[in-house]
Amino acid sequence: MVRKKRVVLTFPHSLVDKPITYHLVKDYGLVFNILKARVTPREEGRLVLEIEGKRENLNRGIKFLKDLGIKIEPLAQDIRWIEERCTHCGACLAICPTRAFIIDPKTYKVSFNKKKCIVCELCIKACPYRAMEIKF
Ligand code: SF4
Ligand code: SF4
Repeated sequence: MVRKKRVVLTFPHSLVDKPITYHLVKDYGLVFNILKARVTPREEGRLVLEIEGKRENLNRGIKFLKDLGIKIEPLAQDIRWIEERCTHCGACLAICPTRAFIIDPKTYKVSFNKKKCIVCELCIKACPYRAMEIKF
C-alpha cells in the first residue's frame, strides 16, 4: 500500500551537502516533493518534504535518515495567527517561503493568508511577539 507523509527534517551542517534525497529515491524507491529547503552557513539545515512510497520502504527510508543523525518530525497540521498579539512589525514577511503574509502598502498592517501556508513553522521562531502558534 502506498502512503504519503509530510515531514520536517533537521540535520547538522556536516550533512548539508550529502546526497540524502538521492538515496531515498534510489535505495528505497520513494518519491518526494520538497516543500521547503533552508540551509544557513554553519547552521543546521531544514527540509520540509512530502514523501510517498510503499509503507515498508517509507519506514526503511525514515530509519535511514534517523540513523544518519537527522531529526524527523511530522509536519504540524495547522498554524494560527493570533491577530491581537501581532504588532505588524513585518519580521515574518521575509522569512515565509510562500508569502503567506501580506503587508498593506497604505496602512502598513500585516495580514495572514492561511491558504498559502504550508506549515513549515519558520515564522514561529521569527515572530518576536509570539503571534504565530502551532496546533497539533
Ligand atoms: S508556517 Fe509561517 S513561514 Fe511557514 S508557510 Fe506558514 S506562514 Fe509562512
Ligand atoms: S512577525 Fe509576528 S508580530 Fe511581526 S508582523 Fe509577523 S506575525 Fe505580526
